[in-house]
Amino acid sequence: MAKKSLWLTYSPEAIQKMNEFCEGYKAFMSTCKTERECTDAFIEMAEKAGYRNLYALIREGVTLVPGDKVYANNREKMLMLVQLGKEPLAEGLRILGAHIDSPRLDLKPHPLYEDSEFAMFKTHYYGGIKKFQWVTLPLALHGVVALKDGSVKKVVIGEDPSDPVLGISDILPHLGKDQMSKPIGEAFTGEDLNVNIGNAAMPDGEDEKELVKKNILRILKDKYGMEEDDFESAEIEVVPAGAARDFGLDRSMVFAYGHDDRICAYTSVLAQLDLADMVPEKTYVTLLVDKEEIGSVGATGMHSKFFENEMAEIMELAGGYSELNIRRMLKNSAMLSSDVSAGFDPNYAGVHEKNNAPLFSYGPVLHKYTGSRGKGGSNDATAEYIAQLRRIFDDAEVRFQLGELGKVDQGGGGTIAYILAQYSMDVIDLGIPLHNMHAPWEVAAKPDIFEAYRAYKVFLEKL
Ligand SMILES: [Zn+2]
Repeated sequence: MAKKSLWLTYSPEAIQKMNEFCEGYKAFMSTCKTERECTDAFIEMAEKAGYRNLYALIREGVTLVPGDKVYANNREKMLMLVQLGKEPLAEGLRILGAHIDSPRLDLKPHPLYEDSEFAMFKTHYYGGIKKFQWVTLPLALHGVVALKDGSVKKVVIGEDPSDPVLGISDILPHLGKDQMSKPIGEAFTGEDLNVNIGNAAMPDGEDEKELVKKNILRILKDKYGMEEDDFESAEIEVVPAGAARDFGLDRSMVFAYGHDDRICAYTSVLAQLDLADMVPEKTYVTLLVDKEEIGSVGATGMHSKFFENEMAEIMELAGGYSELNIRRMLKNSAMLSSDVSAGFDPNYAGVHEKNNAPLFSYGPVLHKYTGSRGKGGSNDATAEYIAQLRRIFDDAEVRFQLGELGKVDQGGGGTIAYILAQYSMDVIDLGIPLHNMHAPWEVAAKPDIFEAYRAYKVFLEKL
């Protein structure tokens, strides 16, 4: 069946709804640039929709009943939203999963130094980046400083129009002969990605050493009450500064930092919160995880036992907890693991195979498999599960496409899908095509964002 661009099938009313939805998305993306900021924002939205903190409910010994809504926050970096259905949990869940960490530069534990009367930050990149893309951009700092007194200070510098921005320098072309003769992957090294944060040498009445650095420390002390040693217990991410914006003369796309994978996280959360007033048959879960970009490891990554453990807590409060029921619940579940895909890009057509390349404005992409070198590391969803999804999406007139991430043997990538598939549940990737994936600024088409949100809702309600 020949499919068409959603621009040709949306009514004027649908286009208006899509635009309104994308305004909300842009506002979210303009302020939520770390996993912690995403978690905070989603908890606020969930609480407004009637979700309650799981740990408060455990302390109070509350009995959960169908329709109850619960969230579990793992260290401000991983979040589960659970809406209880009428069926026992052992019958299985409907799970939407996405990750909320994005590639960036993290400050090192001892980041601050002075060199040639510039104050600088050392960074260590996080996730798969092309290092040359991070120079000469306006950069912002987002993160937290945990102080020894137990307080945690939030840091955001570079987003307010009155704020300064920071940046990493590049060499002028006039003097770039040596740099330009190197392969692009070697011309910029990780240790070159040092952020320039100041040049003002201010007298301090003591000695004359490192006056620029001392001045920066004074500014940090005044603003955040922190000393230099406090960087040891800080998590500060260097990210592109500035708001998400419309992209294209026709405003058909969204330009933002961190589409991967907050574009799927935001649309999943909104889909589930839209259904907050109903008492569903199956229990709904939106699972937002950290650390996907570095292998889903750590206490807040998908490989941790957080999801399983907190579902056990919820089963205990809802009644019917047993180890066997937990295993049955996991096995009987179905999941959309939502992560972004590589949209066909005419500038780089050679990396795609045209019949199976995801297209912008054709809806979210179902990936039967991901992986690389002969589907290595892939989850490979079953034909039967895909047929079920095709049926519910077609019945609800939700547009989707089947696709592949690039040509065979061109490269590849993974998501969190295979980790949940270990429970032997049905899992498939459903994501949104991007241009510039993992670059500081990524591009997505507005109809794909809106259609993904519609697809998530239909998955929860109809599967
Ligand atoms: Zn991703």
